[in-house]
Amino acid sequence: MDSAASSLTPEPVLEKMTEFYHRYRANVDRGIHQLSQKASEEYESAHRKVARFIDARSEEEIIMTRNTTEGLNIVANGLKWKKGDKIVTTLMDHHSNFIIWQRVRQRHGVKLEAIKPNEQGLFNVADFERVIDDQTRVVAVPHVSNALGSVVPISEISKIAARRGALTVIDGAQSVPHIRVDVREIGCDFLAFSGHKMCGPTGSGALYMRGEVAKEVEPTLIGGGTIQDVSPEEFTLASGWHRFEAGTPAIAEVIGLGRAVDYLTQLGMENVRAHEMGIGKALHEGLRKIPEVKVYGPEDSADRVALASFNVGDLNPHDVALALDVSKKIMIRSGHHCALPTMKEVIHADGTARASLYIYNTAEEVELFLSTVEEIAHSLT
Ligand code: PMP
Repeated sequence: MDSAASSLTPEPVLEKMTEFYHRYRANVDRGIHQLSQKASEEYESAHRKVARFIDARSEEEIIMTRNTTEGLNIVANGLKWKKGDKIVTTLMDHHSNFIIWQRVRQRHGVKLEAIKPNEQGLFNVADFERVIDDQTRVVAVPHVSNALGSVVPISEISKIAARRGALTVIDGAQSVPHIRVDVREIGCDFLAFSGHKMCGPTGSGALYMRGEVAKEVEPTLIGGGTIQDVSPEEFTLASGWHRFEAGTPAIAEVIGLGRAVDYLTQLGMENVRAHEMGIGKALHEGLRKIPEVKVYGPEDSADRVALASFNVGDLNPHDVALALDVSKKIMIRSGHHCALPTMKEVIHADGTARASLYIYNTAEEVELFLSTVEEIAHSLT
């Protein structure tokens, strides 16, 4: 029950990765021989699959990364900042979509404003209307909070940003694995997510960069693979994803991510959401029935994913996690979830215990989890 940190990997994804090592282990885009051709085809096909999965117009808009953090850093470090620029972010962002903007402020003297959600992790869209102005260059928001499980109305926020000429950067780490995400419907400029949270291998992730804004981002890393031409005096960078994927990539991982996307597509993201709505509702409602337990996040299941953040009496959340593991081998996360501003400013807790469910979790597992939390709670009295 810790899939928000990293998911399990289905057998077909592992098979696809070993297929690369067994049958066409070669570098990509660097050889005319048949193994390199086959590896390149598979590698490019993964770009196409990921593009289709989030409804990007073309695979050129998909940059393969190691994780969400890398994708967000590419944007923050690659945009050209000027004095007077403003960044709007939130107090519900993961550190990966927060401290990068704080560093931009330190380095370039831009303004930074963070919007606060209510105690349940829900925003008032009018706050974005008020704070996003003509000086705003970037609006950086999470799609789903990893600390509270709440879903953010990113389409509405993207529309407000676009009206003011600001770029929208979405942290999709906790949404893309669980909800159908359509970048064109949302109208965002950037969307970063992690392959390892959506049945893909560790070391895989992707950044969607809308074609029209790609030229505004200077790649942090350049070198082999990123050029169109080089003379002794100068170089011209390639366009599309080649511009950003410097050096030999994580080939097996990218191919594995392509297979993970096929796996989720075959399941159907609507079915994934429906399954998670069912077990997520049981999880929340069950926890709320235990008097010693305080549950955080939205009360309405339509506003959240299958993730429950909670505390049991005055127990340290790490002790709750340890007790679940030791007694019933139930594994959850505990602590501040890399969201210290949310802990400090939104829910006013040092940390929480967090159970996060995915496609393979069952109603029976949720029942066992709830009865074990109940036992832990009763041991307090
Ligand atoms: N954003 C959110 C909302 C997350 O939950 C996570 C992972 N905990 C990240 C960013 C960072 O993901 P990664 O470690 O894969 O870069």
